Amino acid sequence: MLRIDVSSLFMTMTLNLLIMAVALPYFMGRENRAARYAQTGIMLQTAGWIFLLLSSTCQRGGWADQLLSILAMASVSSGMVFNAMAFELWCGRKPTAYVPAIIAVLMTTGYGIGFSHYAFRVGWSNGLLALQIATVIVSLCRTPQIPIGRWRWLLVISLSVQMVVLALRGVLGAFYTAEFPNFYAPHLVNQIFALSSNAMMVLSVVAILLAHRDEMARELERLATQDGLTGALNRRAWLLQSRIDLASSLRYRQPVGVLMLDLDYFKQINDTHGHAVGDRALQLFVTGLRAVSRAGDLFCRYGGEEFCVLLNCADLAAVKAYDERLRLWLQQHSAGELGFALSYSAGIAMCQRDVNTGIESDTIESMLQRADIALYQAKSHGRGCTLAWYPV
Ligand code: GH3
Ligand code: MG
Ligand code: MG
Repeated sequence: MLRIDVSSLFMTMTLNLLIMAVALPYFMGRENRAARYAQTGIMLQTAGWIFLLLSSTCQRGGWADQLLSILAMASVSSGMVFNAMAFELWCGRKPTAYVPAIIAVLMTTGYGIGFSHYAFRVGWSNGLLALQIATVIVSLCRTPQIPIGRWRWLLVISLSVQMVVLALRGVLGAFYTAEFPNFYAPHLVNQIFALSSNAMMVLSVVAILLAHRDEMARELERLATQDGLTGALNRRAWLLQSRIDLASSLRYRQPVGVLMLDLDYFKQINDTHGHAVGDRALQLFVTGLRAVSRAGDLFCRYGGEEFCVLLNCADLAAVKAYDERLRLWLQQHSAGELGFALSYSAGIAMCQRDVNTGIESDTIESMLQRADIALYQAKSHGRGCTLAWYPV
């Protein structure tokens, strides 16, 4: 005959939670915010279960039982709040969990006030914990702000099972109290709760690790494609995307322009104002590029104080208009924010047609070469201007 021993299962789960509470910070690290919230959540849930087990060793209804039980409820429910905040961050949203937090406070307060009434406190605490989990499930089901993996559904499944079993436990404690006289009652619902809590704890930890791995992968991708100082695309990522954009523009016979920009007398700026101001000037320049760029414009920090912009579906007039917008933006912002006027020289290269076939068959590399020649001419012309490349 198969026997399910509730107290052993609760103890095993608490032990496993304790191991996770220690192991997760060690293996995931404490730097990442969402990981920190998830770890705090697991720690609080662990503390809650330890308090629960300890309370059952005290004299029933005594002050120690009451204190430990209230602490247990506060820890378990606030643990869920921290987990919910981690899930929000992993879904690309702000880490707020107001509703689960309000339920945690309500549940603990009501539990403390009605502690002497067993049926009420079991019904109240299990019912509100189930409701708290329901709000977390609803939040997880909302469309995430960033592309995320399937860990979300793993959580939804495990939390849903927990929610249903908790609700059943609440009903049992409140309305069929004789069948559920204490925390370890060997009732089928309590046995299912003990079993499912164990299984769901494992699934939740797996989901947390998957979510963390997702986030790390996104961070690595960001580091591999963005310039660390300005947040602009780096040369490698820009070249990759530019090739794709250029191929599609050529296919649809759309004009494409490349603008290569180089800040003027930048070495002198560093020498006069210091490297930190030089860095701020580079950041401001990228803010300007961002401000004047439109959908489809692709800019990057090509290296040092050189930047490139690929302008899709843009003829020479449109590229020149972009350049003018940028000069105007810098005029309006650089003196105020840096204390001096930031100026640049630029070269333009337009996508060319094959003289024999009339088909546009340019490459990004040859466009860059021509833009670089035009940029060099702009520098020779005294800087602070933009020239387009013309065949000689
Ligand atoms: P020109 O008008 O001919 O372009 O002169 P320039 O001084 O701008 O050009 P040069 O190539 O002589 O100097 C570029 C300077 O940009 C030298 C380098 O120290 C500085 N620089 C490159 N990257 C960074 C950076 O990330 N931060 C800062 N502050 N300076 C940088
Ligand atoms: Mg340069
Ligand atoms: Mg320069």
